Amino acid sequence: MSTIAFIGLGNMGGGMAANLVKAGHRVLGFDLSQEALARAVEAGCESCETIEAAVASADAVVTMLPNGAIMRDVYETSVFGHAPAGCLLLDCSTIDVATARAVAADAAAKGYAMVDAPVSGGIAAANGGTLTFMVGGPDGDFAKAEPILATMGKAVIHAGAAGNGQAAKICNNMLLGASMVATCETFAMAQKLGLDPQTFYDISSVSSGQCWSMTSYCPLPGVGPQSPADNGYQGGFATALMLKDLKLAMEAAQAANAAVPMGHAAEALFQVHANAGQGGTDFSSIIKMLG
Ligand code: NAD
Repeated sequence: MSTIAFIGLGNMGGGMAANLVKAGHRVLGFDLSQEALARAVEAGCESCETIEAAVASADAVVTMLPNGAIMRDVYETSVFGHAPAGCLLLDCSTIDVATARAVAADAAAKGYAMVDAPVSGGIAAANGGTLTFMVGGPDGDFAKAEPILATMGKAVIHAGAAGNGQAAKICNNMLLGASMVATCETFAMAQKLGLDPQTFYDISSVSSGQCWSMTSYCPLPGVGPQSPADNGYQGGFATALMLKDLKLAMEAAQAANAAVPMGHAAEALFQVHANAGQGGTDFSSIIKMLG
């Protein structure tokens, strides 16, 4: 079993680190929040006073941080030159593609193996070890990372070279954001045209308009399988996190010169919804704005 440094023990990282402990790894944790660190210690992690101390004897370093600027600072200031040569670095944060590629190039130049491995699945999946990892990095680095990621998830998929994990994540979430908006406005229109929502669901869910936002995560309460709509739009995937991912997608689209009119529309609509105080509610609650 390995010694793994885990940096960023928040909502997601806390559960992921606990699953590494359960798998028998020695986990050395660090977080700026004492509360997060205390929860990790309860789950069996060892607490470190600095990132440098956590990574000094690590076979692998996992990071689960809020954004690209913080991630880059953590690696450049406290991991590179402090983690042992050859150490495997796994960044599971959701960040911009350009930063992921720049930090990976720096890591390779300094003799580290590195993958970007953002996740699909929320806090429940992090706690339950059922995340999906989308991984970018060289074949050899992926092969080393896979068994560690497999202890925290149900699926580990190699998306290609460095940064491709982040690219897959934001492309998927851009599609999800746009399809949720389309599902919401369609249900609202169907009702205004006099259709019963359940009847429309029964028709569209077996017709060509069917999509995941409708049949796995229906934004209307009482229609389709259990979803955050049935729980007052609490839990699930927060509007603020969907907006974060859409902003990353728009940044990447601009850099790649990709035309994404639907992505743009979804970003603008989720921004209005977040500005109206809905940042903390599930993203499917945007149906209340469109209804
Ligand atoms: P969070 O805010 O709960 O956790 C982030 C943790 O990082 C906090 O505990 C914070 O104290 C710590 N931190 C910040 N700066 C630090 C630093 N310099 N050194 C050490 N620790 C530092 O956020 P989260 O919900 O756990 O999300 C983490 C990442 O996972 C984000 O990139 C997010 O976009 C992504 N993500 C979240 C979800 C979700 O449902 N919450 C789902 C998929 C992906």
